[in-house]
Amino acid sequence: MLSSEILNILACPACENRPPVKEDAAKQNLTCTQCGRVYPVRDGIPIMMVEDKNG
Ligand SMILES: [Zn+2]
Repeated sequence: MLSSEILNILACPACENRPPVKEDAAKQNLTCTQCGRVYPVRDGIPIMMVEDKNG
């Protein structure tokens, strides 16, 4: 579970809007509320990377 502080400073690298992400604690990932991209959370650290070039 990420703190709201962390969620408040995270920005989706694809659309860079805030507040872009919501946490899915069950799936341990973050979903951007703007573009729908899903980012994994590993060991409590969100992996905010865009790997495909079609964004
Ligand atoms: Zn986004």
